[in-house]
Amino acid sequence: MSDLSKFRRIVVKIGTSTLTHDEGHLNLRRIEALVKVLSDFKNAGRQVILVSSGAVSAGVAKLSTRRPINTAEKQAMAAIGQSELMKLYSRLFSDYGHTVAQILLTKDVIDQPDRRAAAEDTFSTLLGLGCIPIVNENDSVSTEGLNFGGNDTLSAYVALVCHADLLINLSDIDGLYDKDPRKFADARLIPEVSAIDDSVLAMAGGAGTARGTGGMATKLLAAKIVLDQGIPMFILNGQDPTVLYEILDGNRVGTYFAAR
Ligand code: GLU
Repeated sequence: MSDLSKFRRIVVKIGTSTLTHDEGHLNLRRIEALVKVLSDFKNAGRQVILVSSGAVSAGVAKLSTRRPINTAEKQAMAAIGQSELMKLYSRLFSDYGHTVAQILLTKDVIDQPDRRAAAEDTFSTLLGLGCIPIVNENDSVSTEGLNFGGNDTLSAYVALVCHADLLINLSDIDGLYDKDPRKFADARLIPEVSAIDDSVLAMAGGAGTARGTGGMATKLLAAKIVLDQGIPMFILNGQDPTVLYEILDGNRVGTYFAAR
């Protein structure tokens, strides 16, 4: 199952709680490690699409302000933080000889066939040019009806639009557990899931950390979206991004959601 060699086009999603320190500043050591691994994936002939959160947090950290409360403040923080994030990714990836390209999406792009087709063309052209698309929700202009409900869901749609071979969700937890490991010491990691049924959904707890928006429930929803289209997914702990090499080497880590 963990033979990553057959997966050529890979979407990697990383969440805010993994990208930032507890007080919200960007975790540079972790981001540098992630960029190095993804650059290596590229060097090994794979195509990489990165779905990165962290815009709101980076904006808050940049202004050294309190966490935004209302929507307008969050949207403003995202506008500030998104360019900070891209500046950093662009610099780090170019150190390894790679070019990044920013794509910001709102849900209407996925819902409207002509806009979705335009996005598909853009992704395919960028990948053909050897770029690494870096995707986030267009938080600064998205509205309730147009948002994805977090980047777990966004990453699943990106995998579909890019016709990816694999989606990897880098989280702040090792994978899916049979019960919440933060509450139960005897919680067991589930190494492989073959269908998102009621028994699997029952294992998901509530929301994640204070800085991230997702929890296990949104990750399982993302898994369902991609599995329905035949794309497998991993949930891995992104604390140490070199964990990505483990799947490359065929080692069992995280939870693998197998597609039929
Ligand atoms: N798009 C949001 C950001 O960049 C994060 C959404 C999420 O973490 O699910 O801050």
